[in-house]
Amino acid sequence: MDIDCMQAREYLHAHLDRELDPVTAMHVETHLKSCAGCSRAYADQVALRNSLKQQAAYYTVPASLAARIRADMVEAKLPASDRRPRWQWFPLAAAVAATVVISWMAAVQLESSGDDRIGEQVIAGHARSVLTDHLVQVASSDQHTVKPWLSSKLDFSPPAADLTSQGFPLAGARLDYVNSRPVAALVYRHREHVINLFIWPTEKAAAQGTTAASKQGYNLLHWDNGGMTFWAISDLNPADIKTFADTYASAK
Ligand SMILES: [Zn+2]
Repeated sequence: MDIDCMQAREYLHAHLDRELDPVTAMHVETHLKSCAGCSRAYADQVALRNSLKQQAAYYTVPASLAARIRADMVEAKLPASDRRPRWQWFPLAAAVAATVVISWMAAVQLESSGDDRIGEQVIAGHARSVLTDHLVQVASSDQHTVKPWLSSKLDFSPPAADLTSQGFPLAGARLDYVNSRPVAALVYRHREHVINLFIWPTEKAAAQGTTAASKQGYNLLHWDNGGMTFWAISDLNPADIKTFADTYASAK
């Protein structure tokens, strides 16, 4: 039997995986030798396979993430280990997509660590709240309204203070999600600017000072105090956000 291009393309992937019976494999080999198009397609598959292998070896994926993806695949009824000797788009596309996602996530985790990583999440939380117009779930400048609301949703009690008389009126609060946990987000205003102040408990010993960062057009301030960690973020200039942090610290 001779096989045509369509059949050859169907068998390419299985051939690459050495899953074809010897006779079919021989027919594919024969076709590849005589057909430039299919042999190019085969070479592309080999190159793709190799580069994915290199990526996978280069980035170490956390076991928990791998397990989660496997669980997702089971849930989606994608047979991760059930390789059939026929070209099928969906499992391949899913596998490629999963590999790309894994590589990307691993790369992101490698690039940033600790405070950098939290800083990115703080920026994302701030941008999300402003862009989606989802600043506050409890809109109040009264700390006696905001504090109990937060305490009822969280397993800690973040310090909240209205700073209207100092030029930073409290607009309210909402829950957010940073550093793999629910956190309090206090929202303050200063002129037309919004300040998000993210708060959650920390194990870290206090008094490491305040760290400032400027990223993606935002200014961030981070400090620990009284068993809590604080991240203030705004498009305010660094001096004004420092004033805010000092004001907040002396008010509570
Ligand atoms: Zn061909």
